Amino acid sequence: MSTEDPRRRIPRTDRVLADPVVRRAGSGLAEAEVHGAVVAAQARARTGEIAPEDVVTAVVDELSGRGASSLTPVLNATGVVVHTNLGRAPLSDAARQALQDASGYVDVELDLTTGQRSKRGVAAREALLAACPAAEDALVVNNGAGALVLATTALAGTREVVISRGEFVEIGAGFRLSDLMESTGARLREVGTTNRTHPSDYRDALGPDTGCLLKVHPSNFRVDGFTSAVPLAELRALADEFAVPLVVDVGSGLLTPDPSLPHEPSLAEALEAGADVVIASGDKLFGGPQAGLLLGRAETIQRLARFPLARAVRADKLTLAALEATLRGGATPVERALHADPDRLRERSEALAAAVGTQVVAHDGRVGGGGAPGVPLHGWAVRLPEGAARALRLGTPAVLPRVHDGGCLLDLRCVPEARDAELTRAVTAALEGVR
Ligand SMILES: *Cc1c(COP(=O)(O)O)cnc(C)c1O
Repeated sequence: MSTEDPRRRIPRTDRVLADPVVRRAGSGLAEAEVHGAVVAAQARARTGEIAPEDVVTAVVDELSGRGASSLTPVLNATGVVVHTNLGRAPLSDAARQALQDASGYVDVELDLTTGQRSKRGVAAREALLAACPAAEDALVVNNGAGALVLATTALAGTREVVISRGEFVEIGAGFRLSDLMESTGARLREVGTTNRTHPSDYRDALGPDTGCLLKVHPSNFRVDGFTSAVPLAELRALADEFAVPLVVDVGSGLLTPDPSLPHEPSLAEALEAGADVVIASGDKLFGGPQAGLLLGRAETIQRLARFPLARAVRADKLTLAALEATLRGGATPVERALHADPDRLRERSEALAAAVGTQVVAHDGRVGGGGAPGVPLHGWAVRLPEGAARALRLGTPAVLPRVHDGGCLLDLRCVPEARDAELTRAVTAALEGVR
């Protein structure tokens, strides 16, 4: 019997690092990452969890397939189209390609013809104006919240932002739009009540201390019953009477009305109704990258673009590239998921259910992302035992199902059809551990 302590056979760090197999697996990763994997494998060998001879293999297993980013691509089988926990809108192929192309040096502020400096974001601006002819000018910033703060701060300063009490929105994770606006010194002047606001409420509040008139689309909730809101056209008339700018935050960012989402306002409608500035998110129903879109009258948009805060919420080159490509690249994945054919969804679901030996049930998807609350997207889901959810999330590819009513539901609305075979394999593998 050998008396040698096996721990003495654990290879030294420099020898593992020099191993060609380890070097290949670690290429493209920072030295500290590779070093960390070696130290972790040595520690496992020290506790006896793995044999000292397996340290190199453990390091390679740990490093291979690991990108420098730990964000894991997920198949969204929840039926929720704009899923905030999954990064909201998935980008179109055109936008993904644009991101890739813009990731190195790129002419974001350069005119290649003259060799002179050019204005940042010209192409994205032109694409927005082409898609939204009712706007005279456009500005892209980091996100919707940034756009709202920029507009209210630049237009109202420390004066009052007049807003209906029915439009005080908490956008999630405890963030309230009202707190956001007040954080830069603007004062909110609430008018009306939660359920009803009349033109006279606005009229009573408007005056020399008004900085701007604001309408916010209550995107993530609905007040039903005895309600009344002042239409935009009437707000426009009030804004003219008191010579104050009218700002409209439509939230979700539909470019034009979508008959399947009757309560979602569009950028086009708000502009046509006379808003000076319309604000929307880039990564909700618009279907693009995270961005804040500001469209409206030339004079007002230029005033916002020149305001110092604009620099602090500036969009990066990747956003500008993806945004332009979202507009020029045809139907977005969000649009396709919203309008997926229920019959086709059923066929795909039945094929998956048959392959894994389970059933299809009726299931309504959702718009999500704080858009069109209460609008069901009729479709289907494959029902699995609830216990499959964890294995699905941790599988390759990772799959996020909806856990509901004691079951694990897979809604294929947001799964690209080209990935169905991969999904079937992932489900088969997940069920092996459960059954
Ligand atoms: C989502 C939303 C925002 C915030 O936009 P982000 O792009 O998430 O910053 C602001 N206002 C409304 C009405 C919204 O729905």
